[in-house]
This record gives sequence, structure tokens and C-alpha cells, in this order.
Amino acid sequence: MKKIEHIGIAVKDIDQAEKRFAKLLNTLSYKREVVESEGVVTSFFRTGESKIELLAPTRPDSPIQKYLDKKGEGMHHIAFEVDDIEQKIETLKQEGFILINDQPKDGADNKRIAFIHPKSTGGVLVELCQEK
Ligand code: ZN
Repeated sequence: MKKIEHIGIAVKDIDQAEKRFAKLLNTLSYKREVVESEGVVTSFFRTGESKIELLAPTRPDSPIQKYLDKKGEGMHHIAFEVDDIEQKIETLKQEGFILINDQPKDGADNKRIAFIHPKSTGGVLVELCQEK
């Protein structure tokens, strides 16, 4: 893993959360992007070398809506940047990690991504991401 690329935070209302985090981080969101396949709207902030990604549901059957119903707002995932996502997926599988995505899929912010199941990482949802 090269670095923590971003931390994902689940929020109910993207407009309100954007305002709150703009104040907290003292910078404006540089990108808002809908990932229709995931039923999610994302908003990104730069903070030093890393980013914060806010995630809000765009429809009731969105995975983020399910997360909010179960756990409420808060930290959702940690994303690590990798050089070769296919290879990393294979290596992690061989080491016993449970991948939610066996193949990388398209994510927000021009990335290919794959998630590792929290039950194999001590309760933390981990995202692997590689710049396209
Ligand atoms: Zn993410």
C-alpha cells in the first residue's frame, strides 16, 4: 500500500455535510460526483496528502442508505492507494483476506477500486484504489 488515499465518511445530507467539512478542513470540496451504479453521491476534499470522501445515498436501495440505517453517520472506509490493483487483489486473497470485489470496478475520482470485507480486517472496510 502506498499511502492512505482517502477516508470515506457516510452522511445523510451531502449539502449539509459539505458545508460542515468545508468549515472543519478550511477548504472547499473540489469535486462532487455521482456514482450511479452504487447509488451514491460523493464529495471530495483535499487535506494534506490525503483526501476526505463524503458519501451520501441517491436512492433508498443504495448500500450507503443501508449502512446509515444500520450504523448511522460516521467513518465508512479507509482507502489505500496501490500501484497494481489486480495483483494486490490476488496477493491479499492468497493471504486469506476476503475481497468483496474480485475484480476492480470503476469508482469516483477517476479510480479503479476494490473493497476488502471488514470481517477480515478487524471491522474496518478497506478500499484499494488505483488511479486510472
Ligand atoms: Zn472511497
